[in-house]
Amino acid sequence: MPAELIKGAEVAKLIREELKTEVDELRDKHGITPALVTILVGENPASLSYVTAKNKTAHELGFHSTQDNQPEDISEADLLELVDKYNNDPQIHGILVQLPLPKGIDETKILYAINPDKDVDGFHPVNVGKLMIGTAVFLPCTPAGIQELLIRSGTETSGAEVCVVGRSNIVGKPITNMLLQKAPGANATVTLVHTRTKDVPAHTRAADILIVAAGVPKYVKGDWIKPGAVVIDVGVNRIGKSEKTGKAILAGDVDFDEAMEVASKITPVPGGVGPMTITMLMKNTVKAAKLGAGLL
Ligand code: NAP
Repeated sequence: MPAELIKGAEVAKLIREELKTEVDELRDKHGITPALVTILVGENPASLSYVTAKNKTAHELGFHSTQDNQPEDISEADLLELVDKYNNDPQIHGILVQLPLPKGIDETKILYAINPDKDVDGFHPVNVGKLMIGTAVFLPCTPAGIQELLIRSGTETSGAEVCVVGRSNIVGKPITNMLLQKAPGANATVTLVHTRTKDVPAHTRAADILIVAAGVPKYVKGDWIKPGAVVIDVGVNRIGKSEKTGKAILAGDVDFDEAMEVASKITPVPGGVGPMTITMLMKNTVKAAKLGAGLL
C-alpha cells in the first residue's frame, strides 16, 4: 500500500485558524495586537519573496506587520542600531532579520543583537541554550513545524528510533535536540548523521522516523528506508524549470516515488514541511506578544 501523505499545507491552515482565534482573544481581552518587523537588507529576490510571504500571512492573522527594507550597502553598525531601535520599541514584539545578509556584515553579530524575548526565529544563543535544556519559548520555525507534523499525524515519537540526516543549526541540530527532550512529542532515541558518517543507509534503515535535511535532491533511496517508517522530507531543491509555466520544478531530499512504496507516511515536496515554517513563525510572534505582556 502506498504511503499516506502528511499534508503540511492542510496542517498549517488548521494551525493558522487556531492562531487567529488566539489573536482575536488577545486583542479583545487584553488590547494586544502581535507586531512583527521583518528587516530585509538588499534585493535578493528569494529573500524578498520569503519576507513578502511572511508579511502577508502576518496581515491575514491580524498582526501589525512591518517590512523594513534597508539598502545592500548598509553598514554593520547602522544595522545593529536599527535592531536596537526595535529591541527598545514596546510596540514591536517580534524581530526577524532575513538571512542571508550581504558580505561584510557579520550575521552572527546581528542575530546575537536581537533581544532574545523578541527572537521569533529562535536563533539567538540564549534561545538555542533554552531549547537544549528543555525550557524554550521560541523553537526555531522549521524544526517546530516538523514536530507539529509528527504530533498531528499521530506519529508516536516516545521510544521511537529517529534518524536525522543533516546537522545544520537551523534544522538538523535543533530537531535532534527537540526530539530527545523528556517531553510530549519527544522522548525519542535520536541518531544524527552527516557527511562524515561512515554508513548513512545503515542508520536510516534502523529509523522508525526518518527526517532528511541534507540539501541533496533525491538522496535517500527507497531501500534506505525501514518498511513502515514515517519520512519527513525537509529538502527543497530546484531541479529544473517547467517549460509550460516557467516555474521551478522542486524535489525533496528523498526519492519520493521509491519512498512511497516503503514508508507508512511521508511529507510531499512541495506542500509538506515548507508551509509549516511560516506558520510557526506566526506562532512564535503570538508567543512574543504574550511574553511582552507578561502573559507567558
Ligand atoms: P545545510 O546547512 O546545507 O546543511 C546540510 C547538512 O546535510 C549538513 O550538515 C551536511 O553535512 C549534510 N549533508 C549534506 N550532504 C550529505 C550527504 N551526502 N550525506 C550525509 N549528510 C549530508 O542545510 P539546511 O539549511 O539544513 O537545509 C537542508 C535542506 O532543507 C535544503 O534543501 C533546504 O532548502 C531545506 N530547508 C527547507 C526548509 C523549509 O522550510 N521547508 C527550511 C530550511 C531548509 P556536513 O555538516 O557534514 O556538511
